[in-house]
Amino acid sequence: MENKILVTRSSMPPIEEYIEEIKEMWNTHWLTNMGPKHCQLQSELKEYLNVSDIELLTNGHMALELSLQAFSPCYGNVFQRDMRENGKKKLEVITTPFTFVSTTHAIVRNGMEPVFCDINPVDFTIDVEKLETLITDYTVAILPVHVYGNVCNIEEIERIANKYGLKILYDAAHAFGETYKNKGIGQFGDASCFSFHATKVFNTIEGGAVCFSDAEFGRELYRLKNFGIRDEETVDGVGANAKMNEFCASMGICNLRHIESEILKRKHIAERYDERLAGVAGIQIRHQQKDVESNYAYYPIIVDEKKMGKSRNEIFQDLKKQGIYARKYFYPLTNTFSCFNGKYDVSKTSVALDVSKRVLTLPIYSELELEIIDKICNIILE
Ligand SMILES: *Cc1c(COP(=O)(O)O)cnc(C)c1O
Repeated sequence: MENKILVTRSSMPPIEEYIEEIKEMWNTHWLTNMGPKHCQLQSELKEYLNVSDIELLTNGHMALELSLQAFSPCYGNVFQRDMRENGKKKLEVITTPFTFVSTTHAIVRNGMEPVFCDINPVDFTIDVEKLETLITDYTVAILPVHVYGNVCNIEEIERIANKYGLKILYDAAHAFGETYKNKGIGQFGDASCFSFHATKVFNTIEGGAVCFSDAEFGRELYRLKNFGIRDEETVDGVGANAKMNEFCASMGICNLRHIESEILKRKHIAERYDERLAGVAGIQIRHQQKDVESNYAYYPIIVDEKKMGKSRNEIFQDLKKQGIYARKYFYPLTNTFSCFNGKYDVSKTSVALDVSKRVLTLPIYSELELEIIDKICNIILE
């Protein structure tokens, strides 16, 4: 279909700009393995994101998975006690189910146990009131998600983590370029992971990054993204291959030149939705957080069927009939996926369950025309 409107559309630089960027590779033949484009993007992102250090990876998922692995020397005490007491390791990571599947899989694929905390109904991030009760002797880390670019309760998470000696790994896939109290969002926690997937505010086609300040963690992460190779003859880590290649880095260099205007256009779109949907009975719109410079990554609405006279699913279908593809994001919750065979008690995350059944993210991308936004709003309000 020609005029299908999807929930997002990948940002691309002018083709000439990209060709110019990749041209010299036909002389250098340096296509991957931390080449000049990789290094350039790394230093540009470090500055743009206002962080002390950053490592580039193949995608956001590997950023999460390898960060959890890179922390592992710090799990030593818990690990040894577990071996002593149970003869097996059990490491728990507290997270939320209201996220993309990647967050939960990163924990499970590290052989760790996800412990699901509920979300708060205002900004959909981890409910810090319920967080502390989930900490056990096995807890080693907290993995909160900045959902839709809404920033988690950073101070409270930090207080709890410090009290119990836990690592904090933020899933910041939705929070590219945001600031909290004028600091880059990637500065918080022990590490923050970004995704540069094609569908995100900033993309490198596929890509991701980890921001951190601890040099030891950085060395560990670097080694893990390159098979665990320490030097030509020493492999002392069981790593993966998660190196960003030069074509992806080049795409990032180009897209980064346009990022400010991309985010500004998104802001205008979000404000148009606000104008049309604020105050409508039965629709909860985005929550503007204090001290946060937003990136307008998503435009979620929460539908109250009783007050609206229409359910989330009905609105989804009404839009679809007109060629507009909104998304039930995040639905279903990650703790309900069939790969986990009903292992997790979903009633323990009842707010997340309720929100997941009522949320709809509306199309938002820099080139979305105002008339289309009005059309979308008319369909919703009709
Ligand atoms: C996109 C996303 C990821 C995974 O990133 P990829 O780059 O697609 O691997 C992880 N967490 C969240 C919340 C995301 O939105």
